Amino acid sequence: MLLEFLIPADSIFANKEGVGTIMTQKEIQIRCKACSSRFSVWPMEPIAQCPQCHQDWKIKWLDSRSGMIIAPVSWREYQSKSRRIIPDE
Ligand SMILES: [Zn+2]
Repeated sequence: MLLEFLIPADSIFANKEGVGTIMTQKEIQIRCKACSSRFSVWPMEPIAQCPQCHQDWKIKWLDSRSGMIIAPVSWREYQSKSRRIIPDE
């Protein structure tokens, strides 16, 4: 897996019990506000695209492990797309 190349082997052993520390190097799962599917983003990425509905989102990072969607990159694009998506409720 790609992740294994990004984390030096010694840091994996050093952080064996601190899963949270390793998580800082890992993709974070967030939930798309348009289609509610979960997808992965890299920590501190300011913009991420949902692979399911291809909506671009602005991401706010509280820290490298806590990201949340704050707004669509383009409201106009979001609104035109949301008409084509049937919410799964
Ligand atoms: Zn989506």
